[in-house]
Amino acid sequence: MNFGWRVARELSPRKFSAHSAIEVVVKPMSHVERRKAQGVVALGFVFCATLPVFSQTSILGFTPSDAAHQVEIENRFKAIPSPDEERRQHHIFTAEPHVAGSARNNELARYIADEWRNEGLEDVIIRRYDVYGSNPKFTSLEMVAPVHYRAILRELPVTGDPDLKNKQISSAWSGMSASGEVTAPLVYAHSGNPEDYELLRKQGIDVKGKVVLVRYSNPYSYRGFKALTAEREGAAAILIYSDPAEDGYKKGKVVPNGPWGPEYHIQRGAITYDFMVPGDPLTPGWASVPGAKRIPVEEAVSIPKIMALPLSWHDAKPLLSNMDGPAAPDDWQGGLPIKYHLGGTRVRVHVKIEMDNSTQPYYVVEGRIRGAQLPDEWIILGNHRDAWVFGGVDPSSGTASLMELTRAMGKLSKQGMRPRRTIVVCSWDGEEVGLTGSTEWGEQFADELRKKAVAYINVDEATSGPNFHGEAVASLAPMLVEASHTLKDPGGKTLYEAWRESSAHERREAKRNGDDTDANVTDLNLADTRIGSGSDHTVFLNFVGMPVLGLGFEGPYGVYHSAYDDFFWMNHFGDPGYRYHTLMSELWGVLALRLANADLLPFDFASYAANVRQFVNELVKGKDMSQLDLKPVLEAIDDFEDAGKRLNASASRVLASDTVDPKLAATINHGAMQVERNWLNPDGIPGRPWFKHILYGPRFTYAHLELPGLTEAVEKQDWLTAKQQAEILRQALVNNTKLVNQLNSSLAGETADGGK
Ligand SMILES: [Zn+2]
Repeated sequence: MNFGWRVARELSPRKFSAHSAIEVVVKPMSHVERRKAQGVVALGFVFCATLPVFSQTSILGFTPSDAAHQVEIENRFKAIPSPDEERRQHHIFTAEPHVAGSARNNELARYIADEWRNEGLEDVIIRRYDVYGSNPKFTSLEMVAPVHYRAILRELPVTGDPDLKNKQISSAWSGMSASGEVTAPLVYAHSGNPEDYELLRKQGIDVKGKVVLVRYSNPYSYRGFKALTAEREGAAAILIYSDPAEDGYKKGKVVPNGPWGPEYHIQRGAITYDFMVPGDPLTPGWASVPGAKRIPVEEAVSIPKIMALPLSWHDAKPLLSNMDGPAAPDDWQGGLPIKYHLGGTRVRVHVKIEMDNSTQPYYVVEGRIRGAQLPDEWIILGNHRDAWVFGGVDPSSGTASLMELTRAMGKLSKQGMRPRRTIVVCSWDGEEVGLTGSTEWGEQFADELRKKAVAYINVDEATSGPNFHGEAVASLAPMLVEASHTLKDPGGKTLYEAWRESSAHERREAKRNGDDTDANVTDLNLADTRIGSGSDHTVFLNFVGMPVLGLGFEGPYGVYHSAYDDFFWMNHFGDPGYRYHTLMSELWGVLALRLANADLLPFDFASYAANVRQFVNELVKGKDMSQLDLKPVLEAIDDFEDAGKRLNASASRVLASDTVDPKLAATINHGAMQVERNWLNPDGIPGRPWFKHILYGPRFTYAHLELPGLTEAVEKQDWLTAKQQAEILRQALVNNTKLVNQLNSSLAGETADGGK
């Protein structure tokens, strides 16, 4: 896949690749007509094409008069968030370290709840989940041969940043590490992926019982996958260090002179096997409300059995420079001025880790603005609150943007501008540990969400730079692209133009690095519709079956999960003027308000079909598929696409008439909300029953994995399973085609009668 085509995200836990969205919006007629001919027409789109003059009053899913009203609402909303307030909120959230379960993080939960109540949000509540805890009691690492070295496991302050002297900054630790103690030889295993151990084996190096030293890697692979791989190889412990080639001085200037990671920066992080099942490991599939039933720790598949510790390059260098054994291959050499060796004998280390695994409360803050007309249709917005240390980018940039969004929403609602549907906002806890708070909340309310939820919009790291990255399931990609036209990037262009430019730049870079990315940016591939795991959208997409969107501004960012990711970093490198924070509040709010106020929900199922076809084509590309006939699946995709196109056309006609019967709208919208649920297979992906979505899943590396059940079976050449999975996919397509056709009949009937 297209890994590593953007520098910033090589270091981010979420890894998606380029792909397709759909163009919509206000375009010259010829363009619109071309899009129509291609059949990628969103709800409300044909309506745009029928108007001789394009005005701001065309918005997907809105009648002309409601669109005009919506523009007014959006303008009033967008006028409220301010850079000064974003900065003030960001300073509050980054003032102290606030890891999940800490007193400070819980205090911030109460602060958020109080703010939301004052702002005028309703039903503000703090929900408690009692989860399997994972906190360090003691960690140490020493080299005992050939020379003695005790790792400092600490991040030293730099001049100009007083926060780095904070006594609450933790030492190096990995969430969900096992406890234990071992003295053993050290082996360098590059990125710690399975092929790296293959190479070691060929060199006669066995890692059983030894300690492996691996680096955070490019292409990105989730540290939990490195831990699982080391565990499977029989290693006694894994040390994961930040090589300057990945996020340090080889990339550019380091803190305090630039955005990259300095000598002592430590990328903390969990190694939870949440690609198997996220959330509290002891309640897989149900909520950890106080008193909930729990499985024994030994049966929890997401708890690693290996010890793990993250290191700065300051601590890794003495180990690497004393290693013997064969020289590491060229592409295993890193950015330190030493020759990297594979090791295995001369360097011996002593690792000791004691974790506290007692049960711990996590707190999710929930609030809402009740919908004036359709209170039982929910748009859900969320961001996690817990941070490894200060969380300058991750997640406090997102939290600041959320707080400005709620202030603006509250203000509108106090002025009597209440959304038609309910907007629910959540501050998650324990995302960094195992997507825990959102998963438990999603599991607790799964049944209600399946009835009421329209979509979930996630913002994790709102801002580490100026380059927008937007993700959406393909049915919502057009509305995301459309909304980007109405916002102004701080650089003076529209967000849409800025997005296209940064996307084109990234594609050129990727191409230069030998990626087979499509170098052309189009409105079809602007939004990223390949959604893996690694943030709080996971439960909503993969377990509940809700359409999701994810938003973030990115830039050079080498201090991820370290103490250096703080207020100083944001004010010097990430977003010194807080203008991108502000833009995030605006964009997030506009998307929420469009989903909340639309006459007909702006889902584009023709786009969805085209995207699924692309997934299938990519799956079969270059593979011997003689054992599996996917023609029935492709035919079912064609049918679904036709149904989607017809619904788009009918919806556009009805919207253009400027009156939509509320009862008819309810039928159409409830049906449209059901489409995403129909992609769920109750049995889940083979071997991972919690992950129920048949179009999207994560690889163990957190990377996106399209058609997960089918793809994994084809990759293993397990043709029996592949046939079953193909049939499950075909059946879901047939069901959704039937559903969309029914909706279209209702709508077309309406049009034929000429109204009510
Ligand atoms: Zn995060």
